[in-house]
Amino acid sequence: MSEKDRIPELFGSMAFNEGTMEQYVPHQAMEVWRDCLKSGKPLPLTAANDIAEAMKTWALEHGATHFTHWFQPLTGITAEKHDSFINPIGGGKIIMDFSGKELVCGEPDASSFPSGGLRATFEARGYSAWDPTAFAFIKDGSLCIPTVFCSYGGAALDKKTPLLRSNEAVNREAVKLLHLFDSEKNVGKVTPQVGPEQEYFLIDRELYLKREDLRLCGRALFGSKPPKGQELDDHYFGAIRPRVAAFMKELDEELWKLGVLSKTKHNEVAPGQHEMAPIYCDANTANDQNQLVMETMKKVAERHGLVCLLHEKPFAGVNGSGKHVNWSLSTDTGENLFSPGKTPSQNAVFLLFLAAFVKGVDEYQELLRCSVAFAGNDHRLGAQEAPPAIISVFLGSELQSIIDAIVGESDYTETERKTLRIGVDVLPSIPQDTTDRNRTSPVAFTGNKFEFRMPGSSQSIAGPVTVLNTIMAEELSRFYAVLKEAPDFNKALHDLVRKAFVEHGRIIFNGNGYEEAWVEEAARRGLANLRNTAEALPTYVLPKNVELMTKHGVYTKEEMFSRHEIHMEKYRKVIHIEAATMVDMVQHEILNAASEYESKLCETMLRKHEAAPELPCHVEKSLANSIGILNDKLLEQTVTLKTALETAPVGASGEEEMRYYHDVVAADMDAVRDTVDRLETLTAGKYWPYPTFYDLLFSV
Ligand code: ADP
Ligand code: MG
Repeated sequence: MSEKDRIPELFGSMAFNEGTMEQYVPHQAMEVWRDCLKSGKPLPLTAANDIAEAMKTWALEHGATHFTHWFQPLTGITAEKHDSFINPIGGGKIIMDFSGKELVCGEPDASSFPSGGLRATFEARGYSAWDPTAFAFIKDGSLCIPTVFCSYGGAALDKKTPLLRSNEAVNREAVKLLHLFDSEKNVGKVTPQVGPEQEYFLIDRELYLKREDLRLCGRALFGSKPPKGQELDDHYFGAIRPRVAAFMKELDEELWKLGVLSKTKHNEVAPGQHEMAPIYCDANTANDQNQLVMETMKKVAERHGLVCLLHEKPFAGVNGSGKHVNWSLSTDTGENLFSPGKTPSQNAVFLLFLAAFVKGVDEYQELLRCSVAFAGNDHRLGAQEAPPAIISVFLGSELQSIIDAIVGESDYTETERKTLRIGVDVLPSIPQDTTDRNRTSPVAFTGNKFEFRMPGSSQSIAGPVTVLNTIMAEELSRFYAVLKEAPDFNKALHDLVRKAFVEHGRIIFNGNGYEEAWVEEAARRGLANLRNTAEALPTYVLPKNVELMTKHGVYTKEEMFSRHEIHMEKYRKVIHIEAATMVDMVQHEILNAASEYESKLCETMLRKHEAAPELPCHVEKSLANSIGILNDKLLEQTVTLKTALETAPVGASGEEEMRYYHDVVAADMDAVRDTVDRLETLTAGKYWPYPTFYDLLFSV
């Protein structure tokens, strides 16, 4: 079969998507299912039974023997518990069975998932419920049913539920607002669209297995920069090496089978670093599929003798990995609400949504920052290659001059001056390809979407997208409240947009975000600079943030505080594990390796002296001396680190503990690392106990 036929046939072959459903599900059940999607009402059991039967038939035909409710607990990855379809019918015989009830609801034991106090310990059960807006798929011989996951009391214990609620909130508010425009009366639904670009590293598996830090923490805790890093920019978009190409080909095919629109692949900036971008789709699907992308990357890498590292900063000294979340809003009438239109009315809608976004990002900058705050991302945000930790929005010069024209005008009725009247004038066109030049901005307008560049490569996109959706919902609802009463709609609209840009223009920054000058400028503008997780997370539960989330029904107050707890606890645990791994590696490998080399040097000196006392020994002596001093220092620093771990405050508040881990433990870790990296450069290669960055980054 030629690729022309093979790939289209392959695509979605393991996904129970709408096309497949039409083949397998009785017509009437399909209709009921479609109605439920529209109304948001639960599926009646008869239709659920029909769909379950169809799913089972399809799954068995495709080699599945088990089914699982596939959910996204607060660990940030996915969870599954497999049940086989077998059902005994007596006489030692079985049939393959799957009911509507099993499809719709499950009861996995939730006791070992983080709940942040949402689930009383005596109530271990969690409930998983089918999300009928997401398609089931087959993975490793199991039919996977995407589900939400909640406690007995109905509290969301997962990442999908708040995302779905936020999709609904922004839909509700956007539709209401759009209906105030005569031209938008037929919009029935607004859906957030997301395209997450996924960066990752590939390294050789044999080498990976030799490093405890990579195995336990997913990142190298030690390692000096290789002589050649990314200085020459020769890896970015470079020719893809055969082993990587074979990996990428198989990755594409595995993803296509699952119905993931994997589109773009290329080498990234750092040696060993690569990127995959799918074609964007609705936020819920994009979120499910990004989880599948991460999982598939890891699995396929193994088959090629490789390991895929999704950590934000596996190797200090070269670029880290991010996950750019491209986000926009589209209507069921086929409009992208962030696309500047051709008519004054379309432009008014565009500018109104743009103003809402800018205002929302300014007002909820801390919350947005929190959505990307975790230990792994701290190594990346604020470093040279990644966006700074300060939130700002890049709009580009074309859009900026339009905003300047709106802001600069003193009065809407003043006609002599060249002003831009929203809802009346046509906008000058904004060429799409010039808007994406600034790679230093954390939130960039790229022609018809926003690119949120702060999310880390390993994280679930559900959190960041939930925040983007909800702040948008909030601003749209405030705009609606003003506009619905307005006697002169166009004037009110114009004033509203102008006011938003006047009051929130401080969040717009079109310059270079990597420069020190921006940090000062941002401080003058009063923008938050939450440099790390320990500084960011306390703002998560600011009253305005809790109000925002509860008002739109995205989180209850309890759900919000539970996330706060879980994120702080996770930070503390990650740093603790990393520090303990460091101590272990130093004590078991590094001190001894350096000392062995030192002793080898001494032996050489002795031998030389025996053979001919006049032989010079400057090299050996100087090296042995430096190594000896550094090794002594390393022992001391490691004891300090170990003590810091042992004396971590007990019973302190989550925030205090987090600060301790940042200020004391992480600082002690930096000191240990510095010494180890210096020892590495002095120690002969064959004495060093594990592969270096040079070995790892140039191995594939
Ligand atoms: P980049 O220059 O950042 O690599 P691309 O054109 O490759 O830009 O797009 C990056 C991602 O943005 C892709 O996943 C793409 O599908 C997605 N994308 C494009 N248009 C939209 C949109 N309107 N809404 C959301 N995502 C989009
Ligand atoms: Mg991009």
